[in-house]
Amino acid sequence: MSIAAAGETPGSLYVKEVLIQTVARNAGEPEFHQAVQEVLESLAPVFDHRPEYRTARILERMLEPERVIMFRVPWQDDQGRPQVNRGFRVEMNSALGPYKGGLRFHASVNLGILKFLAFEQVLKNSLTTLMMGGGKGGSDFDPKGKSDNEVMRFCQSFMTELARHIGPNTDVPAGDIGVGGREIGYLFGQYKRLRNEFTGVLTGKGLNWGGSLIRPEATGYGAVYFAAEMLATRGETLAGKTCLVSGSGNVAQYTVDKLIDLGATPVSLSDSGGFIYDKAGIDREKLQFVFKLKNERRGRIQEYADQFSSAVYTPIDPTLDHNPLWSLKAECAFPSATQNELDAKDARHLLESGVYVISEGANMPTTLEAVKLFLDAGILYAPGKAANAGGVATSGLEMTQNSMRLSWTREEVDSRLYGIMKNIHKACAETATAFGTPGNYVNGANIAGFLKVADAMMDQGLV
Ligand code: NDP
Repeated sequence: MSIAAAGETPGSLYVKEVLIQTVARNAGEPEFHQAVQEVLESLAPVFDHRPEYRTARILERMLEPERVIMFRVPWQDDQGRPQVNRGFRVEMNSALGPYKGGLRFHASVNLGILKFLAFEQVLKNSLTTLMMGGGKGGSDFDPKGKSDNEVMRFCQSFMTELARHIGPNTDVPAGDIGVGGREIGYLFGQYKRLRNEFTGVLTGKGLNWGGSLIRPEATGYGAVYFAAEMLATRGETLAGKTCLVSGSGNVAQYTVDKLIDLGATPVSLSDSGGFIYDKAGIDREKLQFVFKLKNERRGRIQEYADQFSSAVYTPIDPTLDHNPLWSLKAECAFPSATQNELDAKDARHLLESGVYVISEGANMPTTLEAVKLFLDAGILYAPGKAANAGGVATSGLEMTQNSMRLSWTREEVDSRLYGIMKNIHKACAETATAFGTPGNYVNGANIAGFLKVADAMMDQGLV
Protein backbone atom coordinates (compact mmCIF):
# COMPACT_ATOMS: atom_id res chain seq x y z
CA MET A 1 0.00 0.00 0.00
CA SER A 2 1.45 3.39 -0.90
CA ILE A 3 0.99 6.85 0.54
CA ALA A 4 0.50 8.97 -2.54
CA ALA A 5 1.50 12.59 -2.90
CA ALA A 6 3.41 12.67 0.39
CA GLY A 7 6.96 14.00 0.23
CA GLU A 8 9.60 12.45 2.48
CA THR A 9 9.21 14.56 5.62
CA PRO A 10 9.22 13.31 9.22
CA GLY A 11 5.42 13.57 9.19
CA SER A 12 5.00 11.59 5.98
CA LEU A 13 7.46 8.92 7.11
CA TYR A 14 5.56 8.60 10.37
CA VAL A 15 2.17 8.14 8.70
CA LYS A 16 3.66 5.68 6.21
CA GLU A 17 5.05 3.60 9.04
CA VAL A 18 1.77 3.71 10.98
CA LEU A 19 -0.21 2.69 7.90
CA ILE A 20 2.03 -0.33 7.28
CA GLN A 21 1.65 -1.35 10.94
CA THR A 22 -2.12 -0.86 10.82
CA VAL A 23 -2.52 -3.09 7.77
CA ALA A 24 -0.33 -5.81 9.36
CA ARG A 25 -2.07 -5.65 12.75
CA ASN A 26 -5.61 -5.67 11.32
CA ALA A 27 -5.42 -8.38 8.67
CA GLY A 28 -8.52 -9.04 6.60
CA GLU A 29 -10.13 -5.64 7.29
CA PRO A 30 -9.90 -3.86 3.91
CA GLU A 31 -12.53 -1.21 4.69
CA PHE A 32 -10.68 -0.24 7.88
CA HIS A 33 -7.39 0.00 5.94
CA GLN A 34 -9.10 2.18 3.31
CA ALA A 35 -10.59 4.59 5.84
CA VAL A 36 -7.28 4.87 7.69
CA GLN A 37 -5.29 5.44 4.48
CA GLU A 38 -7.59 8.26 3.40
CA VAL A 39 -7.20 10.02 6.73
CA LEU A 40 -3.45 9.46 7.09
CA GLU A 41 -2.74 10.87 3.63
CA SER A 42 -4.27 14.14 4.86
CA LEU A 43 -2.45 14.17 8.19
CA ALA A 44 1.23 14.05 7.18
CA PRO A 45 1.68 17.88 7.33
CA VAL A 46 0.06 17.97 10.79
CA PHE A 47 2.82 15.75 12.18
CA ASP A 48 5.47 18.04 10.69
CA HIS A 49 3.92 21.04 12.48
CA ARG A 50 3.17 19.17 15.72
CA PRO A 51 5.97 16.63 16.41
CA GLU A 52 4.66 16.18 19.98
CA TYR A 53 1.79 14.11 18.56
CA ARG A 54 4.36 11.70 17.13
CA THR A 55 6.21 11.45 20.42
CA ALA A 56 2.94 10.76 22.24
CA ARG A 57 2.02 8.13 19.57
CA ILE A 58 -1.40 9.71 19.23
CA LEU A 59 -2.11 8.06 15.89
CA GLU A 60 -1.26 4.54 17.07
CA ARG A 61 -3.56 5.09 20.04
CA MET A 62 -6.41 6.47 17.91
CA LEU A 63 -6.26 3.47 15.57
CA GLU A 64 -6.68 0.96 18.39
CA PRO A 65 -10.28 0.81 19.67
CA GLU A 66 -10.55 1.51 23.39
CA ARG A 67 -12.75 -1.58 23.62
CA VAL A 68 -14.35 -4.11 21.25
CA ILE A 69 -17.32 -6.17 22.42
CA MET A 70 -18.36 -9.23 20.37
CA PHE A 71 -21.19 -11.47 21.40
CA ARG A 72 -23.58 -14.24 20.41
CA VAL A 73 -27.17 -13.21 19.60
CA PRO A 74 -29.45 -16.25 19.79
CA TRP A 75 -33.11 -15.80 18.81
CA GLN A 76 -36.07 -17.84 17.63
CA ASP A 77 -37.67 -17.42 14.20
CA ASP A 78 -41.41 -17.64 13.51
CA GLN A 79 -41.14 -21.39 12.90
CA GLY A 80 -39.65 -21.85 16.36
CA ARG A 81 -36.17 -22.64 15.00
CA PRO A 82 -33.12 -21.30 16.85
CA GLN A 83 -31.07 -18.73 14.92
CA VAL A 84 -27.65 -17.36 15.83
CA ASN A 85 -26.14 -14.04 14.79
CA ARG A 86 -23.07 -12.14 15.83
CA GLY A 87 -23.32 -8.83 17.70
CA PHE A 88 -20.65 -6.12 17.99
CA ARG A 89 -19.94 -2.79 19.63
CA VAL A 90 -16.69 -1.01 18.81
CA GLU A 91 -15.99 1.69 21.44
CA MET A 92 -13.33 3.56 19.52
CA ASN A 93 -12.52 6.79 21.31
CA SER A 94 -13.97 8.65 24.31
CA ALA A 95 -11.61 11.66 24.43
CA LEU A 96 -14.44 14.08 23.58
CA GLY A 97 -17.39 12.43 25.34
CA PRO A 98 -19.42 9.22 25.62
CA TYR A 99 -19.02 6.83 22.68
CA LYS A 100 -21.61 7.76 20.07
CA GLY A 101 -22.48 6.14 16.75
CA GLY A 102 -25.04 3.96 15.06
CA LEU A 103 -25.94 0.28 14.98
CA ARG A 104 -25.99 -1.44 11.57
CA PHE A 105 -28.01 -4.59 10.88
CA HIS A 106 -26.94 -5.99 7.50
CA ALA A 107 -25.72 -9.38 6.30
CA SER A 108 -22.35 -7.87 5.34
CA VAL A 109 -21.51 -6.57 8.84
CA ASN A 110 -18.16 -7.72 10.24
CA LEU A 111 -15.55 -6.33 12.62
CA GLY A 112 -13.52 -4.57 9.90
CA ILE A 113 -16.54 -2.69 8.55
CA LEU A 114 -17.52 -1.56 12.05
CA LYS A 115 -13.95 -0.45 12.81
CA PHE A 116 -13.90 1.69 9.66
CA LEU A 117 -17.24 3.20 10.62
CA ALA A 118 -16.16 3.77 14.24
CA PHE A 119 -12.91 5.45 13.17
CA GLU A 120 -14.75 7.77 10.77
CA GLN A 121 -17.27 8.46 13.52
CA VAL A 122 -14.59 9.73 15.93
CA LEU A 123 -13.49 12.42 13.47
CA LYS A 124 -17.05 13.21 12.37
CA ASN A 125 -18.27 13.69 15.93
CA SER A 126 -15.33 15.96 16.60
CA LEU A 127 -16.34 18.13 13.62
CA THR A 128 -19.83 18.66 15.04
CA THR A 129 -18.23 20.54 18.01
CA LEU A 130 -20.58 18.65 20.37
CA MET A 131 -19.09 16.59 23.20
CA MET A 132 -19.25 13.10 21.72
CA GLY A 133 -16.70 10.31 21.42
CA GLY A 134 -16.99 7.74 18.63
CA GLY A 135 -18.25 4.19 18.35
CA LYS A 136 -20.22 1.89 16.07
CA GLY A 137 -21.93 -1.47 16.39
CA GLY A 138 -24.37 -3.86 14.86
CA SER A 139 -24.93 -7.37 13.67
CA ASP A 140 -24.84 -9.58 10.58
CA PHE A 141 -28.61 -10.02 11.10
CA ASP A 142 -30.50 -9.24 7.87
CA PRO A 143 -33.88 -7.61 8.62
CA LYS A 144 -35.05 -8.11 5.00
CA GLY A 145 -37.91 -10.58 4.78
CA LYS A 146 -38.20 -10.92 8.58
CA SER A 147 -41.53 -10.44 10.33
CA ASP A 148 -41.99 -7.67 12.92
CA ASN A 149 -41.99 -10.32 15.63
CA GLU A 150 -38.71 -11.80 14.43
CA VAL A 151 -37.13 -8.33 14.34
CA MET A 152 -38.41 -7.71 17.88
CA ARG A 153 -37.07 -11.00 19.25
CA PHE A 154 -33.72 -10.35 17.62
CA CYS A 155 -33.53 -6.78 19.01
CA GLN A 156 -34.42 -8.02 22.51
CA SER A 157 -31.71 -10.66 22.44
CA PHE A 158 -29.15 -8.20 21.02
CA MET A 159 -29.93 -5.65 23.74
CA THR A 160 -29.85 -8.27 26.51
CA GLU A 161 -26.07 -8.39 26.06
CA LEU A 162 -25.46 -4.81 24.85
CA ALA A 163 -27.25 -3.30 27.88
CA ARG A 164 -24.30 -4.24 30.11
CA HIS A 165 -21.97 -2.03 28.12
CA ILE A 166 -23.92 1.13 27.28
CA GLY A 167 -25.52 3.98 29.22
CA PRO A 168 -26.44 7.65 28.77
CA ASN A 169 -23.01 8.75 30.07
CA THR A 170 -21.01 5.84 28.63
CA ASP A 171 -22.11 4.84 25.15
CA VAL A 172 -25.21 6.03 23.29
CA PRO A 173 -26.00 4.05 20.10
CA ALA A 174 -28.35 5.19 17.30
CA GLY A 175 -29.56 3.80 13.95
CA ASP A 176 -27.73 3.11 10.69
CA ILE A 177 -28.39 0.73 7.78
CA GLY A 178 -31.21 -1.65 8.77
CA VAL A 179 -31.84 0.12 12.08
CA GLY A 180 -34.62 2.72 11.96
CA GLY A 181 -37.45 3.81 14.26
CA ARG A 182 -38.91 0.29 14.60
CA GLU A 183 -35.63 -1.28 15.72
CA ILE A 184 -34.71 1.60 18.06
CA GLY A 185 -38.12 1.16 19.72
CA TYR A 186 -37.60 -2.55 20.38
CA LEU A 187 -34.02 -1.98 21.57
CA PHE A 188 -35.06 0.83 23.92
CA GLY A 189 -37.96 -1.22 25.33
CA GLN A 190 -35.64 -4.07 26.24
CA TYR A 191 -33.00 -1.75 27.76
CA LYS A 192 -35.65 -0.10 29.94
CA ARG A 193 -36.98 -3.45 31.06
CA LEU A 194 -33.55 -4.81 31.96
CA ARG A 195 -32.25 -1.71 33.73
CA ASN A 196 -35.51 -0.40 35.15
CA GLU A 197 -34.66 3.13 34.06
CA PHE A 198 -35.92 5.53 31.41
CA THR A 199 -32.85 7.35 30.09
CA GLY A 200 -31.50 8.77 26.85
CA VAL A 201 -29.44 5.64 26.17
CA LEU A 202 -30.32 5.56 22.47
CA THR A 203 -31.03 8.32 19.97
CA GLY A 204 -33.50 8.23 17.09
CA LYS A 205 -36.26 7.47 19.58
CA GLY A 206 -39.97 7.95 18.86
CA LEU A 207 -41.20 11.52 19.19
CA ASN A 208 -43.59 10.76 22.04
CA TRP A 209 -40.97 8.97 24.17
CA GLY A 210 -37.88 11.15 24.09
CA GLY A 211 -36.96 11.47 20.41
CA SER A 212 -36.01 14.76 18.79
CA LEU A 213 -37.92 16.44 16.00
CA ILE A 214 -35.79 16.51 12.81
CA ARG A 215 -33.63 13.52 13.88
CA PRO A 216 -35.05 11.28 11.10
CA GLU A 217 -34.52 14.07 8.57
CA ALA A 218 -31.14 15.24 9.86
CA THR A 219 -28.58 13.25 7.86
CA GLY A 220 -30.22 13.90 4.49
CA TYR A 221 -31.00 17.53 5.28
CA GLY A 222 -27.45 18.05 6.50
CA ALA A 223 -25.91 16.59 3.34
CA VAL A 224 -28.00 19.00 1.26
CA TYR A 225 -27.12 21.98 3.50
CA PHE A 226 -23.44 21.09 3.05
CA ALA A 227 -23.83 20.99 -0.75
CA ALA A 228 -25.56 24.39 -0.62
CA GLU A 229 -22.67 25.82 1.41
CA MET A 230 -20.12 24.51 -1.09
CA LEU A 231 -22.09 25.98 -4.00
CA ALA A 232 -22.30 29.33 -2.18
CA THR A 233 -18.49 29.58 -2.36
CA ARG A 234 -19.02 29.88 -6.14
CA GLY A 235 -22.00 32.19 -5.85
CA GLU A 236 -24.44 29.43 -6.86
CA THR A 237 -27.47 27.70 -5.32
CA LEU A 238 -29.14 24.31 -5.69
CA ALA A 239 -32.22 25.81 -7.36
CA GLY A 240 -32.77 24.29 -10.79
CA LYS A 241 -29.96 21.73 -10.45
CA THR A 242 -30.49 18.09 -11.45
CA CYS A 243 -29.40 15.73 -8.66
CA LEU A 244 -28.59 12.02 -8.54
CA VAL A 245 -29.39 10.25 -5.27
CA SER A 246 -28.52 6.62 -4.52
CA GLY A 247 -30.15 4.48 -1.83
CA SER A 248 -33.79 4.81 -0.83
CA GLY A 249 -33.54 4.49 2.94
CA ASN A 250 -33.53 7.11 5.64
CA VAL A 251 -30.70 9.26 4.27
CA ALA A 252 -31.79 9.13 0.63
CA GLN A 253 -35.43 9.93 1.43
CA TYR A 254 -34.67 13.11 3.37
CA THR A 255 -32.00 14.16 0.90
CA VAL A 256 -34.71 14.14 -1.77
CA ASP A 257 -37.07 15.98 0.60
CA LYS A 258 -34.65 18.86 1.20
CA LEU A 259 -33.61 19.02 -2.47
CA ILE A 260 -37.26 19.53 -3.42
CA ASP A 261 -37.52 22.24 -0.73
CA LEU A 262 -34.57 24.11 -2.21
CA GLY A 263 -35.86 23.96 -5.79
CA ALA A 264 -33.53 21.25 -7.09
CA THR A 265 -34.68 18.26 -9.18
CA PRO A 266 -33.80 14.85 -7.72
CA VAL A 267 -34.07 12.22 -10.47
CA SER A 268 -32.90 8.88 -9.05
CA LEU A 269 -33.15 6.44 -6.12
CA SER A 270 -31.82 2.91 -5.70
CA ASP A 271 -31.72 -0.18 -3.52
CA SER A 272 -29.74 -3.39 -3.63
CA GLY A 273 -31.94 -4.61 -6.54
CA GLY A 274 -31.43 -1.68 -8.93
CA PHE A 275 -32.23 2.00 -9.50
CA ILE A 276 -35.02 4.18 -10.84
CA TYR A 277 -34.46 7.20 -13.09
CA ASP A 278 -37.32 9.67 -13.17
CA LYS A 279 -36.43 12.30 -15.73
CA ALA A 280 -39.46 14.39 -14.76
CA GLY A 281 -38.11 14.64 -11.21
CA ILE A 282 -39.19 13.14 -7.89
CA ASP A 283 -41.80 15.53 -6.51
CA ARG A 284 -43.58 15.63 -3.13
CA GLU A 285 -46.32 13.21 -4.16
CA LYS A 286 -43.81 10.67 -5.50
CA LEU A 287 -41.71 11.04 -2.35
CA GLN A 288 -44.78 10.24 -0.22
CA PHE A 289 -45.09 7.02 -2.23
CA VAL A 290 -41.43 6.21 -1.45
CA PHE A 291 -41.93 6.86 2.30
CA LYS A 292 -44.83 4.39 2.36
CA LEU A 293 -43.08 1.88 0.08
CA LYS A 294 -39.86 1.78 2.09
CA ASN A 295 -40.89 2.55 5.67
CA GLU A 296 -44.27 0.81 5.90
CA ARG A 297 -44.64 -1.80 3.17
CA ARG A 298 -40.85 -2.42 3.10
CA GLY A 299 -41.02 -3.04 -0.67
CA ARG A 300 -38.47 -2.71 -3.50
CA ILE A 301 -37.70 0.52 -5.40
CA GLN A 302 -38.69 -1.22 -8.66
CA GLU A 303 -42.33 -0.57 -7.65
CA TYR A 304 -41.74 3.18 -8.13
CA ALA A 305 -41.42 2.62 -11.88
CA ASP A 306 -44.61 0.50 -11.89
CA GLN A 307 -46.41 3.40 -10.21
CA PHE A 308 -45.03 6.38 -12.17
CA SER A 309 -44.75 6.17 -15.95
CA SER A 310 -42.11 8.92 -16.09
CA ALA A 311 -39.63 6.54 -14.40
CA VAL A 312 -37.48 3.74 -15.76
CA TYR A 313 -36.16 0.91 -13.57
CA THR A 314 -32.74 -0.64 -14.23
CA PRO A 315 -31.94 -3.81 -12.31
CA ILE A 316 -28.40 -4.39 -11.02
CA ASP A 317 -26.33 -6.18 -13.65
CA PRO A 318 -23.57 -8.08 -11.84
CA THR A 319 -21.65 -8.51 -15.12
CA LEU A 320 -21.10 -4.73 -15.44
CA ASP A 321 -17.90 -3.16 -14.05
CA HIS A 322 -19.69 0.09 -13.21
CA ASN A 323 -23.01 1.37 -11.91
CA PRO A 324 -25.06 3.01 -14.71
CA LEU A 325 -26.77 5.23 -12.13
CA TRP A 326 -23.57 7.29 -12.07
CA SER A 327 -23.68 7.82 -15.87
CA LEU A 328 -26.92 9.83 -15.79
CA LYS A 329 -26.80 13.51 -16.72
CA ALA A 330 -26.80 15.81 -13.69
CA GLU A 331 -24.95 18.58 -11.86
CA CYS A 332 -24.96 17.13 -8.34
CA ALA A 333 -24.69 13.67 -6.79
CA PHE A 334 -25.61 12.45 -3.30
CA PRO A 335 -24.35 8.87 -2.78
CA SER A 336 -26.56 7.71 0.12
CA ALA A 337 -26.56 3.89 0.14
CA THR A 338 -23.37 2.22 1.36
CA GLN A 339 -19.56 2.06 1.32
CA ASN A 340 -17.67 1.76 -1.97
CA GLU A 341 -20.76 2.15 -4.14
CA LEU A 342 -18.86 4.50 -6.45
CA ASP A 343 -15.49 3.51 -8.00
CA ALA A 344 -13.00 5.12 -10.38
CA LYS A 345 -14.96 4.20 -13.50
CA ASP A 346 -18.15 5.63 -11.98
CA ALA A 347 -16.21 8.77 -11.01
CA ARG A 348 -15.08 9.26 -14.62
CA HIS A 349 -18.67 8.85 -15.82
CA LEU A 350 -19.90 11.41 -13.30
CA LEU A 351 -17.26 13.93 -14.35
CA GLU A 352 -17.96 13.31 -18.06
CA SER A 353 -21.69 13.86 -17.60
CA GLY A 354 -21.14 17.20 -15.91
CA VAL A 355 -21.44 16.49 -12.18
CA TYR A 356 -19.43 19.04 -10.20
CA VAL A 357 -21.00 18.82 -6.71
CA ILE A 358 -20.79 15.63 -4.64
CA SER A 359 -22.04 15.45 -1.07
CA GLU A 360 -21.77 12.05 0.58
CA GLY A 361 -24.78 11.01 2.67
CA ALA A 362 -23.35 7.51 3.06
CA ASN A 363 -20.14 6.64 4.89
CA MET A 364 -17.16 6.15 2.54
CA PRO A 365 -19.30 5.52 -0.57
CA THR A 366 -16.35 6.49 -2.80
CA THR A 367 -13.22 4.39 -3.35
CA LEU A 368 -9.79 5.99 -2.80
CA GLU A 369 -9.07 6.16 -6.56
CA ALA A 370 -12.42 7.83 -7.21
CA VAL A 371 -11.78 10.40 -4.46
CA LYS A 372 -8.46 11.28 -6.12
CA LEU A 373 -10.21 11.81 -9.46
CA PHE A 374 -12.68 14.20 -7.84
CA LEU A 375 -9.93 16.13 -6.06
CA ASP A 376 -7.80 16.34 -9.21
CA ALA A 377 -10.81 17.61 -11.16
CA GLY A 378 -11.25 20.44 -8.64
CA ILE A 379 -14.98 19.83 -8.20
CA LEU A 380 -16.91 20.52 -4.99
CA TYR A 381 -16.47 17.17 -3.22
CA ALA A 382 -17.61 16.68 0.40
CA PRO A 383 -16.55 13.47 2.17
CA GLY A 384 -19.12 11.67 4.32
CA LYS A 385 -17.52 12.51 7.64
CA ALA A 386 -18.30 16.17 7.00
CA ALA A 387 -21.38 16.01 4.76
CA ASN A 388 -23.36 13.43 6.74
CA ALA A 389 -22.45 14.69 10.22
CA GLY A 390 -25.90 16.27 10.58
CA GLY A 391 -27.34 12.94 11.73
CA VAL A 392 -25.06 12.49 14.69
CA ALA A 393 -25.15 16.22 15.44
CA THR A 394 -28.92 16.02 15.83
CA SER A 395 -28.47 12.89 17.95
CA GLY A 396 -26.29 15.11 20.14
CA LEU A 397 -29.15 17.61 20.27
CA GLU A 398 -31.50 14.75 21.25
CA MET A 399 -29.13 13.88 24.14
CA THR A 400 -29.16 17.51 25.28
CA GLN A 401 -32.98 17.63 25.23
CA ASN A 402 -33.14 14.31 27.15
CA SER A 403 -30.74 15.63 29.81
CA MET A 404 -32.84 18.77 30.21
CA ARG A 405 -36.09 16.74 30.00
CA LEU A 406 -37.61 19.06 27.43
CA SER A 407 -38.25 19.12 23.67
CA TRP A 408 -37.30 21.82 21.22
CA THR A 409 -39.54 22.77 18.29
CA ARG A 410 -38.93 21.59 14.75
CA GLU A 411 -37.73 25.09 13.78
CA GLU A 412 -35.32 25.27 16.72
CA VAL A 413 -33.70 21.88 15.93
CA ASP A 414 -33.55 22.56 12.20
CA SER A 415 -31.93 25.95 12.70
CA ARG A 416 -29.34 24.41 15.06
CA LEU A 417 -28.68 21.65 12.48
CA TYR A 418 -28.26 24.26 9.75
CA GLY A 419 -25.88 26.26 11.96
CA ILE A 420 -23.81 23.17 12.73
CA MET A 421 -23.53 22.21 9.03
CA LYS A 422 -22.49 25.78 8.17
CA ASN A 423 -19.82 25.66 10.88
CA ILE A 424 -18.54 22.26 9.75
CA HIS A 425 -18.27 23.59 6.21
CA LYS A 426 -16.41 26.67 7.44
CA ALA A 427 -14.02 24.63 9.62
CA CYS A 428 -13.25 22.26 6.72
CA ALA A 429 -12.74 25.08 4.22
CA GLU A 430 -10.54 27.15 6.56
CA THR A 431 -8.45 24.17 7.66
CA ALA A 432 -7.90 23.08 4.05
CA THR A 433 -6.65 26.58 3.24
CA ALA A 434 -4.48 26.79 6.37
CA PHE A 435 -2.74 23.55 5.35
CA GLY A 436 -2.10 24.76 1.81
CA THR A 437 -4.85 22.88 -0.07
CA PRO A 438 -7.75 25.32 -0.54
CA GLY A 439 -10.98 23.67 -1.70
CA ASN A 440 -9.86 20.20 -0.54
CA TYR A 441 -12.65 19.26 1.89
CA VAL A 442 -11.08 15.83 2.45
CA ASN A 443 -7.96 17.35 3.99
CA GLY A 444 -10.03 19.98 5.77
CA ALA A 445 -12.37 17.44 7.41
CA ASN A 446 -9.64 14.98 8.33
CA ILE A 447 -7.31 17.58 9.84
CA ALA A 448 -9.96 19.64 11.65
CA GLY A 449 -11.58 16.50 13.09
CA PHE A 450 -8.23 15.03 14.12
CA LEU A 451 -6.79 18.10 15.85
CA LYS A 452 -9.57 18.36 18.42
CA VAL A 453 -9.39 14.69 19.36
CA ALA A 454 -5.58 14.70 19.45
CA ASP A 455 -5.45 17.75 21.73
CA ALA A 456 -8.00 16.20 24.11
CA MET A 457 -5.95 12.99 24.20
CA MET A 458 -2.77 14.97 24.94
CA ASP A 459 -4.55 16.73 27.84
CA GLN A 460 -5.91 13.48 29.27
CA GLY A 461 -2.58 11.66 29.48
CA LEU A 462 -1.65 8.14 28.47
CA VAL A 463 -4.99 6.36 28.90
P1 NDP B 1 -31.20 2.49 5.42
O1 NDP B 1 -31.12 1.08 5.89
O2 NDP B 1 -32.38 3.32 5.78
O3 NDP B 1 -31.08 2.52 3.81
C1 NDP B 1 -29.98 1.97 3.17
C2 NDP B 1 -30.21 2.06 1.67
O4 NDP B 1 -29.01 1.69 0.99
C3 NDP B 1 -31.28 1.10 1.20
O5 NDP B 1 -31.88 1.65 0.06
C4 NDP B 1 -30.47 -0.13 0.83
O6 NDP B 1 -31.10 -0.99 -0.11
C5 NDP B 1 -29.23 0.48 0.25
N1 NDP B 1 -28.10 -0.42 0.47
C6 NDP B 1 -27.58 -0.80 1.64
N2 NDP B 1 -26.58 -1.67 1.47
C7 NDP B 1 -26.48 -1.83 0.14
C8 NDP B 1 -25.62 -2.59 -0.67
N3 NDP B 1 -24.66 -3.38 -0.14
N4 NDP B 1 -25.78 -2.50 -2.01
C9 NDP B 1 -26.75 -1.69 -2.54
N5 NDP B 1 -27.59 -0.96 -1.81
C10 NDP B 1 -27.45 -1.02 -0.50
O7 NDP B 1 -29.84 3.17 5.89
P2 NDP B 1 -29.48 4.72 6.01
O8 NDP B 1 -30.19 5.50 4.96
O9 NDP B 1 -29.63 5.10 7.43
O10 NDP B 1 -27.91 4.70 5.70
C11 NDP B 1 -27.37 4.89 4.39
C12 NDP B 1 -25.93 5.32 4.49
O11 NDP B 1 -25.85 6.54 5.25
C13 NDP B 1 -25.00 4.34 5.22
O12 NDP B 1 -23.70 4.42 4.65
C14 NDP B 1 -24.94 4.90 6.64
O13 NDP B 1 -23.78 4.49 7.33
C15 NDP B 1 -24.92 6.39 6.33
N6 NDP B 1 -25.32 7.27 7.42
C16 NDP B 1 -26.55 7.15 8.02
C17 NDP B 1 -26.89 8.01 9.05
C18 NDP B 1 -28.25 7.98 9.66
O14 NDP B 1 -28.55 8.90 10.44
N7 NDP B 1 -29.12 7.03 9.35
C19 NDP B 1 -25.94 9.01 9.58
C20 NDP B 1 -24.71 9.12 8.82
C21 NDP B 1 -24.42 8.25 7.80
P3 NDP B 1 -31.71 -2.38 0.38
O15 NDP B 1 -32.90 -2.03 1.18
O16 NDP B 1 -32.01 -3.13 -0.87
O17 NDP B 1 -30.63 -3.05 1.19
